[in-house]
Amino acid sequence: MCSNVNVTENIKNVQERIKQACLRADRNPSEVTLIAVSKTKPVSMIEECIENGITVFGENKAQELTRKIEAIGRPLDWHFIGHLQRNKVKYVVGNACLIHSVDSVRLAEAINSEAEKKNIVCDILAEVNVADEESKFGLAKEEVHDFVLQISSFKNIKLRGLMTIAPYVEDSEENRLYFRVLRNLLIDINSKNIDNINMDVLSMGMTGDYEVAIEEGATMVRVGTGIFGDRHYA
Ligand SMILES: *Cc1c(COP(=O)(O)O)cnc(C)c1O
Repeated sequence: MCSNVNVTENIKNVQERIKQACLRADRNPSEVTLIAVSKTKPVSMIEECIENGITVFGENKAQELTRKIEAIGRPLDWHFIGHLQRNKVKYVVGNACLIHSVDSVRLAEAINSEAEKKNIVCDILAEVNVADEESKFGLAKEEVHDFVLQISSFKNIKLRGLMTIAPYVEDSEENRLYFRVLRNLLIDINSKNIDNINMDVLSMGMTGDYEVAIEEGATMVRVGTGIFGDRHYA
């Protein structure tokens, strides 16, 4: 039940688990950004997060993003994590400080020209479908290198790293391999010394598997249910 969700407790719990995962991996917790995925959740719950020191939020719909930014009216870091259609790019560029879900050159082009129009540089991640799931968006592993080459000359976007949505599994250990694949892909592409390309962000891990993702090098984890409880879609 929504009303029984204790956001404050949940945040403390997630932060503690992040810390423990970092300890196991000999990493500093400051290397890992917790993104509170607030999609479908009310502004009041976001306010409770803010009271607990959370400043980074993830949304997956352009309209919901702009509505919440207006309603909250305070500077926060909004990340766009959902599938983005080119006709919605204008609502997201300039509002989101990072777009996690760029999966085609055409979309990157649209983001680049919107950013140029607004005279800004837009940070993006390339979304990779590491497990080759038919139901998922994202570049195939084999396509990432070409994608990076093609967008590397775009002046108004900055490729900061890679993102993946791992398969839904009961046992998060099953995703360890996929997180490792994403990390190795980032290292491999960085080693090619492509002009303007030096990635340092790995956005991987959700409520079910963020601890494993951190052990495998995640620098951003996207946690929704673990903070806000189950989502109820009308
Ligand atoms: C909804 C969503 C999340 C959060 O999922 P939970 O399992 O609720 O933590 C993370 N990443 C993306 C891209 C999402 O759409």
